[in-house]
Amino acid sequence: MTTTFVGMPTFPAAARAALADTQLRRNLAHATATIRAKRAAAVAEIDDWEELRHSGAAIKDHTLRHLDTYLIQLEQSLTSAGATVHWARDAAEACGIVADVARRHRVDEVVKVKSMATQEIGLNEALAAAGVAAWETDLAELIVQLGGDLPSHILVPAIHRNRSEVREIFLREMARAGRPAPADLSDEPAALANAARLHLREKFFSARMAVSGANFAVAESGTLVVVESEGNGRMCLTLPDILVSIVGIEKVVPTWADLDVFLQLLPRSSTGERMNPYTSTWAGVTPGDGPQEVHVVLLDNGRTNVLADQVGRQALRCIRCSACLNVCPVYERTGGHAYGSVYPGPIGAVLTPMLRGVGHDPSTDSLPYASTLCGACYEVCPVAIDIPEILVHLRAQVVDAHRARVPHGQDVAMKTAGWTLGSPGRLRMAERLRGLAGRLVPHSRRSPEGRASLGRLPWPGSRWTDARDLPAPPAESFRRWWARTNGGRRAEGGTT
Ligand code: SF4
Repeated sequence: MTTTFVGMPTFPAAARAALADTQLRRNLAHATATIRAKRAAAVAEIDDWEELRHSGAAIKDHTLRHLDTYLIQLEQSLTSAGATVHWARDAAEACGIVADVARRHRVDEVVKVKSMATQEIGLNEALAAAGVAAWETDLAELIVQLGGDLPSHILVPAIHRNRSEVREIFLREMARAGRPAPADLSDEPAALANAARLHLREKFFSARMAVSGANFAVAESGTLVVVESEGNGRMCLTLPDILVSIVGIEKVVPTWADLDVFLQLLPRSSTGERMNPYTSTWAGVTPGDGPQEVHVVLLDNGRTNVLADQVGRQALRCIRCSACLNVCPVYERTGGHAYGSVYPGPIGAVLTPMLRGVGHDPSTDSLPYASTLCGACYEVCPVAIDIPEILVHLRAQVVDAHRARVPHGQDVAMKTAGWTLGSPGRLRMAERLRGLAGRLVPHSRRSPEGRASLGRLPWPGSRWTDARDLPAPPAESFRRWWARTNGGRRAEGGTT
């Protein structure tokens, strides 16, 4: 993961700070509601959306089952098209490969296509350490980079900024990175976009090397695919002499026909468009046209560990559309920074712990709990990833990773419950004790339906009752009721 997120607090602590920022919550609520509505309208146009969605899931599952075969095929296709293929086990290897290419060509600046994989491996920081400046060319990424900020959304990394904040960043920071913003810059979207266009154009014309990711990699033809809205990616992919693409190994799809399914699913799910404005495809080197030296880095960085997890591997279907972020009630209130990762929201809450591994870092271990398990993320996911199922699975892993030699109160409570429920005699005894406790502890609360709850219990029970209701035990246990009524066959009054 990118080093810029290292040292982030746990999700609850970061979320508490984010919740106190009313401007942030206003920006997020407005932006997510807008994208949500656009997506819903675009999806409603397709009669067989559910079938399309399950086709996408089936293609991804098939590819992941035969990943070794398709990756080798992709490597062969890319190599025969003139690209150089590298394999990177982790972030350090991937960053080292890119830095070596830059060093070999004496390049001291690169332009970048928006890419989650390069953020995940902390490429900008690694290149800076090697004396190479990496310039983001996606408008939202540029805002984040100039503002010295962290991305907070997969698709709209600057979603936490409003336009007057963007204007201030441009006026303050653009000059340090190249062409300054006009002194009379307004906060009109068209004026801001024009300032970015002029600033970036100089970068496109001066940079000799570009770095990209890829949304998809077609094994049969060695074609890499980038979908985008602004066209800045296409400038990077066509103008410089050297191109390095960092591609997560889960991005491979077997054929062009498979790609067809994803090019329908992705734009409707991400930007709520029928089709994204720019889809760039390239395979290796074409003499006299575009980059004349093309490198492709196939990146693992924890993905094979995810593949080994029978429940969690479905997360590798993800096409990074960000629909799950926009519907998540937790994300909408906290924003992306609270997740301490380049992958925020529901997909981040499962992908980050699986890529990093649980049990090492409190911030990562807190992520599977950053959810209400409402299931909205699963409903909108275009490749039907059951995120709630993975969250519950990861919570179990986190609990197991923290099982102490000296058991916690919760472990003791669960063991005691298991022991009690394991014998009819012990259960009978427990029911008697519970009935007695119910008479001794005052019932201080009553729900609107008339159900009574126990009041505050003494420690350690108070750790439960301080935050939750504990229903008062019923006056009669189920077993006694069963015996008295012959399993409900005898009426309460005693007749059958
Ligand atoms: S998990 Fe599904 S909804 Fe979320 S970003 Fe990935 S593909 Fe999109």
